[in-house]
Amino acid sequence: MNDIAIIGAGPAGASAAIFAAKAGKKTLVIDSDQSMTKRAWLENHYGVAEISGPDLVETGKKQAAKFGAEFVTAKAAKLTAGDDGITIETEDGASYQASHVIVATGVFADLAEASGIRMKPGTEPRIKTVIDAAADGKTNIDRIWAAGTAAGVSVHTIITAGDGAKVAINVISEINGERYVDHDVLKA
Ligand SMILES: Cc1cc2nc3c(=O)[nH]c(=O)nc-3n(C[C@H](O)[C@H](O)[C@H](O)COP(=O)(O)OP(=O)(O)OC[C@H]3O[C@@H](n4cnc5c(N)ncnc54)[C@H](O)[C@@H]3O)c2cc1C
Repeated sequence: MNDIAIIGAGPAGASAAIFAAKAGKKTLVIDSDQSMTKRAWLENHYGVAEISGPDLVETGKKQAAKFGAEFVTAKAAKLTAGDDGITIETEDGASYQASHVIVATGVFADLAEASGIRMKPGTEPRIKTVIDAAADGKTNIDRIWAAGTAAGVSVHTIITAGDGAKVAINVISEINGERYVDHDVLKA
């Protein structure tokens, strides 16, 4: 059983995966390799002078893998909440289990809609429908959370990545039963 499964490995999902895996949680990332970020050239991401979208996405995935996140290339079709956690079924017929799921599917609303997650109209340019998530990332279904563009935040990498991190910290804190902080200290 995975502690945290993340659907989507764009800035929101991979950032969530970095925090989840680094916190020692068994982390699974399922991604269909359709990130809008792979079409971007970025000069507005804090701390990075300039980077191509494909490089940002690849670096994010490598960072998460370094801390132990496992990656599967597949399209998640449906999430079902049960007593044993959340079951994730993929279009290729596989199924995975996780205690918590973070939906970070970017512009794609089909998984959330098929899973009975409450949706609302998007407010950002060209984003039609988003998950009706609370400020902490919780959806109407217990232990299913949402982050990034899918959760309706401003469509910029610094914001979606930050939102993924925020939601992962909230999930980790809920699992641990106390607020979680991840601070490494500069070595002398
Ligand atoms: C042409 C272009 C230029 C841009 N330029 C900039 C810029 O200069 N600066 C800036 O800040 N932002 C820019 N952006 C916006 C930026 O890419 C987004 O704001 C942000 O990165 C989106 O992150 P995300 O993780 O929410 O979504 P995405 O990066 O789209 O990632 C979503 C991931 O979820 C996966 N997924 C979706 N559904 C499923 C499913 N059912 N199962 C499994 N996986 C699934 C997709 O394959 C994808 O990998 C640009 C976007 C575009 C399109």
